[in-house]
Amino acid sequence: KKHEDFLLAVEGLTVSFDGFKAVDDLSFYLDPKEIRVIIGPNGAGKTTVLDLICGKTKSTSGSIRFQGKELTRLKEHQIVHQGVGRKFQTPSVFEDLTVFENLELSYPKGHSVVGALAFKRDTAVLAAVQEVAETIFLDDALDQPAASLSHGQKQWLEIGMLLIQKPDLLMLDEPVAGMSVAERKKTAELLKKITKDHTVLVIEHDMQFVGDIADRVTVMHQGKVLSEGSIEHVKNDPKVVEVYLGH
Ligand code: ADP
Repeated sequence: KKHEDFLLAVEGLTVSFDGFKAVDDLSFYLDPKEIRVIIGPNGAGKTTVLDLICGKTKSTSGSIRFQGKELTRLKEHQIVHQGVGRKFQTPSVFEDLTVFENLELSYPKGHSVVGALAFKRDTAVLAAVQEVAETIFLDDALDQPAASLSHGQKQWLEIGMLLIQKPDLLMLDEPVAGMSVAERKKTAELLKKITKDHTVLVIEHDMQFVGDIADRVTVMHQGKVLSEGSIEHVKNDPKVVEVYLGH
């Protein structure tokens, strides 16, 4: 395959913190519209990989090619503009605002518009809010303040606040942490729904959930790829078994 065929091509990515290589010559490739899950023991470098892709952390060497464009020298907001959305572990919704307002606020701001154009924009915003609210199971809760939502619903709202920006790649850090079993099931359903339009890269520990959502799994260990493939493949890989039993 050529580079252009991948949505994301990470090659030779390395970052050192005071001489310690948290990510060490890492390479992996994402196909458009797949759900990829990164697993691995604590300290494997998973969060740092997402930080590098979204520009929060700058790499020491290596390349991150996204839709053909090199990201490593771009600033965080420029990377967002390229179509990369990142959700952190702790929900950061606006508690005092309604679900509707949270989504509306996240709709990408165009340049200032007037008259007929503003009307057209408002209609587009309403349609986008409604569509996203349905996707995240909150279309009946549009008028509720975010503070009244369950932990799981807040996580979905935050995913919705990213979806309304139409990212090509959505990165999620342990999206089902703290969720009930029912909420986990619905989150799997949500992620599968959105791969019609988005590629999803997830860090996850819950192997049941990984099995439910992953097209492919990348196992990281000591900043490197230890194993990659279907969940069955990586689960039965002796290298993976050894690392997990050793912990
Ligand atoms: P994971 O998400 O797989 O648990 P991390 O990416 O959080 O792993 O961390 C990988 C390693 O890099 C850990 O040993 C961590 O302490 C170290 N690390 C991460 N970020 C920094 C930083 N900003 N400064 C120094 N060390 C860091």
